[in-house]
Amino acid sequence: MEGSTFLQAISLNKAYPDTINSGVKNINLTIQKGKITAIIGESGSGKSTLLKLLYGLLSPDEGKVYFENERVWGPEVKLIPGHDSMKMVTQSNDDLNLFAKVWENVAALLPNNNLLAKNEKTEAILKQLKMYHLAKKKVVELSGGEKQRVAIARALITNPKVLFLDEPFNQVDSSFREGLQQDIREIVKQTGLTVIIVSHDPAEVLSMADELLVLKHGEIIESGTPKSIYHAPSNLYSAQLLTNCNILNPDEAKICGIKTKESFVVIYPQWIKTSRSTLNEGWYIKQILFKGNYEDLLIEKEGLTLRLLNDQFGKYTEGENIAIKIKNWIGFQ
Ligand code: ADP
Ligand code: MG
Repeated sequence: MEGSTFLQAISLNKAYPDTINSGVKNINLTIQKGKITAIIGESGSGKSTLLKLLYGLLSPDEGKVYFENERVWGPEVKLIPGHDSMKMVTQSNDDLNLFAKVWENVAALLPNNNLLAKNEKTEAILKQLKMYHLAKKKVVELSGGEKQRVAIARALITNPKVLFLDEPFNQVDSSFREGLQQDIREIVKQTGLTVIIVSHDPAEVLSMADELLVLKHGEIIESGTPKSIYHAPSNLYSAQLLTNCNILNPDEAKICGIKTKESFVVIYPQWIKTSRSTLNEGWYIKQILFKGNYEDLLIEKEGLTLRLLNDQFGKYTEGENIAIKIKNWIGFQ
């Protein structure tokens, strides 16, 4: 059908009563089927509100949400909130039955009219999420990360078309988190599931998402692929969300040899190249922070500190003079 869209929001506005600058404003978006879309933004920027509006947990003050060309209605219209073909997982996962086994928690969502199918499906999803070995454990005995896997298994077992994840991995330690991210990407590839994820973690959104939406004060200020926004953010806010960049005012930029009329100059750590210097160009190494497979170098000149990356361990020592070349920078008004 021409003009057919998967999930679409048109001119959504939602303000919470008695709270200024709350909720979201003028949201227009189209979510692509079978892709992972990540919504990023500082705390309070409206990410959770937007998810609830798309899912039908909240009604907008103005505007409409369409899913497969049908209107998504909010709780005022629909008795059981939340669209039937969508599922949401948050960090609270309060609908888990802590004293029942993992298997029961997951299987409980399927009907009893075909027990063989119920068992096969439960086994399959537990295997897919690498938790079959935990099937007989009670949820209360699991770690935070394992509980999140149960919540995701419960969400996926009924084959939803859309999975909403609201900062689901916050409580999960980083080694576990990566496995879960890979599993979700794999499920998306295999099944065509559409995922919309809210996240704080730049590494997570950059590696997981096909598409990014940047929210600021309730409005979408930028959208695109992670690569395009990372390499050429159209505003300082997006750069700050996605990178641990150096942000300089024009006077500080001058110390680096950059002359500009822009208000801010952003330099990513990897854009600064270093070499040993016998001359004194003013830069010296203030601190070296070991990060595992690289080092963070903090260098200083005339009171300005820059952070950059070094993978040649032991090349530099704290206090020594250093020469730098800045390969790239971005200016923002
Ligand atoms: P995020 O998920 O990005 O942290 P939220 O969508 O939760 O942001 O909130 C967006 C804004 O709306 C914030 O300023 C928040 O304080 C406000 N807000 C969210 N929920 C409510 C509510 N139930 N009542 C009043 N204000 C709210
Ligand atoms: Mg939130």
